[in-house]
Amino acid sequence: MTSYKELGLVNTREMFAKAVAGGYAIPAFNFNTMEQMQAIVQAAVECKSPVIMQVSKGARAYANGTILRYMAQGAVEYAKELGCENPQIVLHLDHGDSFEICKECIDNGFSSVMIDGSHLPYEENIALTKKVVDYAHAHDVTVEAELGVLAGVEDEVSSAVSHYTKPEEVVDFSTRSGCDSLAISIGTSHGAYKFTREQCTVDPQTGKLVPPPLAFGILAEIEKQLPGFPIVLHGSSSVPQDEVDTINAFGGKLPDAVGIPEEQLRQASKSAVCKINIDSDSRLAMTAAIRKHFAEHPDHFDPRQYLKPARENMKKMYIHKIMNVLGSNDKL
Ligand SMILES: [Zn+2]
Repeated sequence: MTSYKELGLVNTREMFAKAVAGGYAIPAFNFNTMEQMQAIVQAAVECKSPVIMQVSKGARAYANGTILRYMAQGAVEYAKELGCENPQIVLHLDHGDSFEICKECIDNGFSSVMIDGSHLPYEENIALTKKVVDYAHAHDVTVEAELGVLAGVEDEVSSAVSHYTKPEEVVDFSTRSGCDSLAISIGTSHGAYKFTREQCTVDPQTGKLVPPPLAFGILAEIEKQLPGFPIVLHGSSSVPQDEVDTINAFGGKLPDAVGIPEEQLRQASKSAVCKINIDSDSRLAMTAAIRKHFAEHPDHFDPRQYLKPARENMKKMYIHKIMNVLGSNDKL
């Protein structure tokens, strides 16, 4: 048994309370590699931002859960080495799909877990979430639950259609399950292809797809039902078109990749939305930098030569999100 407290990590309780009160959102960046971890920590330290480093089922399969946990411990020490006296770093399990996975993570140094029972019938979702909450709270670990279904593909989580969260269910669900935060579905979507061509309109000047707006009416209704309760948005990459263009210009093929416009995420950050999940944008930033580097330096074969610009490009993206979209800078 390793408590996250021994690793210098924190849970989300105080962080979310401050974010909701302060009208900003905490970035939740997925990580699988050392370069992503370094870029996240550098960005958080430079911006004086709290940060959630999250691990998906796919990340555990790719990098190994134990290694990722030690990387999170390393992230805390690295942040201190970079001059941050009191880093606020959460190690979070993204889309835990069983009590057993959540327990394993809680027993191994995670400070926050998500139990995603959104695919289950309502009562079963409550029962599963409550079981995880009871175990987690006994170890002072916070729990994110999900109500409503997001469309799209994220590692092994996928759904063809979305079902918006029903505002009339949120009070009953959060009270009976005891969850600390709630992921809702208001039109965000997993992956780099969040919307089909048919769902979008086309910008006549650029020819780029313009996605449909998020359901802010539903978010407002949820806030009315649950004043001050921490709300989470998944699938909130904005799929920057300059990165997509770079990838396509240097041999990639990502037609019609489209994300959530940053203006809408900025608006959501000011509400009770206090955690915004960003994964695809990091993948795009890394891939764009590597493709460009390979095209410009066909003689390079030392991984450090192309991973360094990849890390720099991810760091630039993380800083942009913190400073210009979520507003979590200068909060340490
Ligand atoms: Zn998700």
